[in-house]
Amino acid sequence: MMFDLHGIFKEVINLIKPIAFVKKLSITMILAPDLPVFAIGDEKRLMQTILNVVVNAVKFTNEGYISIIASVAKPEALRDWRPPEFYLVSTEGHLYLRVQVKDLGCSVLPQDIPILFTKFSQPRSGNSSGAGLGLAICRRFANLMGGHIWIESEGLDKGCALTFLVKLGICSNPDDLAIHQASS
Ligand code: ADP
Repeated sequence: MMFDLHGIFKEVINLIKPIAFVKKLSITMILAPDLPVFAIGDEKRLMQTILNVVVNAVKFTNEGYISIIASVAKPEALRDWRPPEFYLVSTEGHLYLRVQVKDLGCSVLPQDIPILFTKFSQPRSGNSSGAGLGLAICRRFANLMGGHIWIESEGLDKGCALTFLVKLGICSNPDDLAIHQASS
């Protein structure tokens, strides 16, 4: 289904703003100029994945800022830093959306990284009261959308960066969406 890709990010910001305000965290969001406004894909799964990651960033950060960057991933640019277990498969009519959420929070121990995306897992270094399901669901959704999700940490209390890639269809005629919305 065709959906408003920029709209998803605006909605995430609106949902998270009140909590960030209470915690005195600033949030910056950058939508790359080449990010299309409309795309084709699973809007709900994408929204839930972004929201989960952003909620975690706000939850595990007590001061500073959180940044959300959305761009189109270019296979050439990804060659050097994508995780070794994932390969981009470029096909006509598709793009890879890359979302990176960085925070300056408590982060995780590098040795805990492999278990974070496993159901019901809590890292030793963690202080979460959650069920440990969020990132497992994010990984499943990213995989279902032909992508991947991973986390990079510089060490405890140095913040972390969570990045995910998902494959979306390129919308050749965005006017269709306007017509569709106007008639529904
Ligand atoms: P939970 O519901 O417990 O938050 P998640 O699956 O969303 O479960 O996250 C698993 C664990 O990963 C968390 O308990 C936390 O320890 C760690 N984690 C996830 N995101 C972050 C982050 N941005 N900063 C620090 N730790 C994080």
